[in-house]
Amino acid sequence: SVRVRFCPSPTGNPHVGLVRTALFNWAFAKHHQGTLVFRIEDTDAARDSEESYTQLLDSMRWLGFDWDEGPEVGGPHAPYRQSQRMDLYKDVAAKLLDAGHAYRCYCSQEELDTRREAARAAGRPSGYDGHCRELTDAQVAEYKAQGREPIVRFRMPDETITFTDLVRGELTFTPENVPDYGIVRANGAPLYTLVNPVDDALMEITHVLRGEDLLSSTPRQIALYKALIELGIAQQIPSFGHLPYVMGEGNKKLSKRDPQSSLNLYRERGFLPEGLLNYLSLLGWSLSADQDVFTMDEMIAAFDIADVNPNPARFDLKKCEAINGDHIRMLDVKDFTERCRPWLQAPFAPWAPEAFDEAKWQAVAPHAQTRLKVLSEITDNVDFLFLPEPVEDEASWAKAMKEGSDALLRTAREKLEAADWTSAESLKEAVLAAGEAHGLKLGKAQAPVRVAVTGRTVGLPLFESLEILGKEKTLARIDAALA
Ligand code: GLU
Repeated sequence: SVRVRFCPSPTGNPHVGLVRTALFNWAFAKHHQGTLVFRIEDTDAARDSEESYTQLLDSMRWLGFDWDEGPEVGGPHAPYRQSQRMDLYKDVAAKLLDAGHAYRCYCSQEELDTRREAARAAGRPSGYDGHCRELTDAQVAEYKAQGREPIVRFRMPDETITFTDLVRGELTFTPENVPDYGIVRANGAPLYTLVNPVDDALMEITHVLRGEDLLSSTPRQIALYKALIELGIAQQIPSFGHLPYVMGEGNKKLSKRDPQSSLNLYRERGFLPEGLLNYLSLLGWSLSADQDVFTMDEMIAAFDIADVNPNPARFDLKKCEAINGDHIRMLDVKDFTERCRPWLQAPFAPWAPEAFDEAKWQAVAPHAQTRLKVLSEITDNVDFLFLPEPVEDEASWAKAMKEGSDALLRTAREKLEAADWTSAESLKEAVLAAGEAHGLKLGKAQAPVRVAVTGRTVGLPLFESLEILGKEKTLARIDAALA
């Protein structure tokens, strides 16, 4: 059966690339009714933090992911935090050393740098040159006497490594491109290069789906796997699939540090998890040529790793927002009304808490649901209902209030006063009639009314907005604009 893993390091804020990787693993596991293992790769004490760990879990839950093994749920291979598995790695490193699959390397950083430079200058491969592969006892004794602390290095077999990437097809790596590599630091700390494949082996992972940035570690890991199989630690080499790079602005790789890549930003702006995930699934995959908007259930049913496109995917914020807007439209109106709550309160809402009016909110929500791209836009769209006065926005005012606007507003006020306030249609007729009296089409006639009442040139459908705000306040605001 299928066993996949999502294994982030808890460093910094979760970013969209990480979410895309989690999503593809999750969808793959669900599609195959397999198992998703969530493992925390926190072996780098200098970079990992507990805060980041907590945030990671919170983000995964917010996105709606579930996992079969991992933090909070446990499982047969617990613990799922690498910082709690250090003894296991020590044990494996010792076995690799004993069997000759690894050796102690005493080269200092300066020596490595000097030799790398020389190799480069001579046009030779600049990776580790195998200097410590076959040290004699005397050489080792001398290094020890010099007080050198060795690292542990994995001995790459002298053979070409070929594997079939689930996304990219057959890939081949020749030995000169995959030199021996460190697996344990001089201070005894095991590295990603060791702990990641060791845990994949112990946790019986069948498919490794991860970003293209990790492609170069795959031939190393395959070689390590072979050694682990020989030692009886691993059963089989997993299949590997490398997901395409995500490009941001200016066709540069979207980096973790790019503000556009921070998951928190999307949460704060009011993206729906299902909208964001729908968009992120399109970074390398698609449901069909003519359907961009779909549910996670649809994605799971259709997901095939062989359909993932190896070419870099471009992150397009506009498209992400548009798809999110479509998901907002797909919500049940009650659900929409509730999901907007955070943006109707401090610190987002500029009105006093007691000014909020539930009945008005319920009345206006369906009109807002048809237009938002992200939930945070709700605040500006409804503030005219809860602020004592419309927001002051000089630019909007200048744009809408032209010569003759005063005269129009006076006529509009008159007609609105006489209108039927239980009908938005009647309010529209009033403004339409006022416009006709001044030779203005509806669009031109309603602009000054909108700014007078809401403070803005754009917003929700105007006549419904006026009806919900009520006659008294609407007329008072028009009076204030004329004063
Ligand atoms: N902890 C690694 C990372 O976050 C996992 C890489 C992998 O999937 O192998 O980059």
